[in-house]
Amino acid sequence: MHIIIKSMEIKMCVLDEEKECDGCMECEMCDLDPSKVCDNCGKCLDIKDVATIRIDKIITDPNEYKE
Ligand code: SF4
Repeated sequence: MHIIIKSMEIKMCVLDEEKECDGCMECEMCDLDPSKVCDNCGKCLDIKDVATIRIDKIITDPNEYKE
C-alpha cells in the first residue's frame, strides 16, 4: 500500500476571507449572467475609453505615510 501525502497549503476564498476555498467556483461566474462562466468580456466593468482620477497628494517618504 502506497500513501501519497500532498502539500496541505490552505487557500482562502477570494470572495469570503473567513472561508477556506472549497472549489465551489462561485468566483468564476459572471456577475451579470449567473449561468455563464466569466470569459473576461468586461461588460460588468463599464470600461470607458477615457477616465480621470484626482490625486490629492504624492508621498515619496514612507515615514510620512499615515493610514
Ligand atoms: S472556488 Fe469558491 S471557495 Fe474557492 S475562491 Fe472561488 S468562490 Fe471561494
